[in-house]
Amino acid sequence: MGKTEILRLLKGTFADRKLILLSNREPYVHRAIPRGFVCEKQGGGVATALDPVMQMVGGTWIAWGSGNLDKSFVDEKGRVKVPPQDPKYLLKRVWLTEDEVENYYLGFSNRSLWPLAHNLCNQVVFKRKFWEFYKKVNEHFAQVASEEFESERALIWVNDYQLALVPQKLRSKAEDAMIVFFWHIPWPNYDLFCILPQRKEFLEGLLGSDLLGFHTQNFCRNFLACAEQELEAEVNFEKSTVTYRDHTTKVKAFPISIDFEHFCSLAQSKETQAMLTKLRKGFHLEDTILGISVDRLDYTKGIPEKLRAIDLFLERYPQYQGRFTFVQIAAPSRTKIKAYRELREEVVSLVSQINQKYEKPGWRPIFLINRQVDHKTLSVYYRLADLAIISSVRDGMNLVAKEFIASQIDEKGILCLSEFAGAFEEMENSIPINPYYSDGFAEAIKKALEMPLPEKRDRIRRMRQYLKEYDIYRWTYDIFQTLSEMVPSQAEADVDMLLMRE
Ligand code: ADP
Repeated sequence: MGKTEILRLLKGTFADRKLILLSNREPYVHRAIPRGFVCEKQGGGVATALDPVMQMVGGTWIAWGSGNLDKSFVDEKGRVKVPPQDPKYLLKRVWLTEDEVENYYLGFSNRSLWPLAHNLCNQVVFKRKFWEFYKKVNEHFAQVASEEFESERALIWVNDYQLALVPQKLRSKAEDAMIVFFWHIPWPNYDLFCILPQRKEFLEGLLGSDLLGFHTQNFCRNFLACAEQELEAEVNFEKSTVTYRDHTTKVKAFPISIDFEHFCSLAQSKETQAMLTKLRKGFHLEDTILGISVDRLDYTKGIPEKLRAIDLFLERYPQYQGRFTFVQIAAPSRTKIKAYRELREEVVSLVSQINQKYEKPGWRPIFLINRQVDHKTLSVYYRLADLAIISSVRDGMNLVAKEFIASQIDEKGILCLSEFAGAFEEMENSIPINPYYSDGFAEAIKKALEMPLPEKRDRIRRMRQYLKEYDIYRWTYDIFQTLSEMVPSQAEADVDMLLMRE
């Protein structure tokens, strides 16, 4: 399933609808650099999946203009055509004031919703101001979107937890719009969700959509249960629908994925191969067993839990001291929030304690790379590693797990994956770990390292075969395909029109 099939759907079923996309993060950012400026294409699942779609069919992508040079490149309506070198669609930038960034983004989105959705109640902060700004910014996004389809029918795709109220706000502005909302992080169970003071209004916001997507069945079930308990809604668990105030929303799991071919070809490239040879020789890696992790420095990723398990592993199995080296690549994230700064301090201190405990001449157990790394370099690390460890205490999906597997072109690297990452539902051939249980975690590392090569190969092959089929394009296709089955027929639309006139 590729771009052609997606194009066929959009030019067929949705030919009479303008495509409008909303997300907090923009797909292209203009940023100052020492000798001028750059227009950077953003990575991440949403941009990777939806930028090619927008380039094929055109339309408008609405997002927060967060780049420090973004304002210099737009027209009077905040619009710029992208990609810059070959413009195909409009990026409409929404400007946020400092107060809005503080309360809508850093506040309600990242200090209330983010920890709540990841089951981390002790990190949750609720403030009335956060919620007031969240509502205001969501209204603003909805208003900007509605200006984009004044006289046309629209197909609107809203992304993620920062914009949950947009579907309902848009519904009241455009009855006949088709609205899909994708929630990219976990959805908690009702016992946890009900600590959200504004839970009713929040659910009502999402239920303005026609199709509501999550990464896993588990998140869908949690959502349906929340809607049933909190609202006087008709919830059909079998059909996976919620009918509320005469509007029906279909709730469905679509596990996001990666551009499999892109990661394969990066892994196969001459550049990667040359770097591999150089690093293996330069750092004497022939004799070293290498483990890696690639994470944003976020408390949901279970980085301290992983470091403690590695400590226990080295203590319990001293034969690996001097032989096993672990590289933790951790990109700084949300550094304006105290909990993230504290996490960094904890991680730095743990790494240094473990290194002091075991270090020998010519060998250091853990290397911490505390920065963003480009995809090419990541590809080299993915290929170098004998083992990748994903230890999230909770995660919507975890694309790193999939990127690592896609990069295993010589089928030697094995994956230890947290049972609490969304990817675990699909990556059946990984080695399960429970980040809360260091004893079991340490044993899983040993099991992974000592697994016979034929078994490793078999597991990797199966996961790669799966990812080849269920890649990012398949994800996008499945969502549009499901939506296309929900488009009201012309006859139904005519009856609706007649009823409205009466
Ligand atoms: P999240 O969306 O919570 O950050 P994911 O694992 O789903 O987690 O996606 C992270 C994305 O960011 C992946 O594409 C990964 O390659 C990239 N990434 C994560 N950490 C780094 C890093 N230190 N350097 C470069 N890219 C990173």
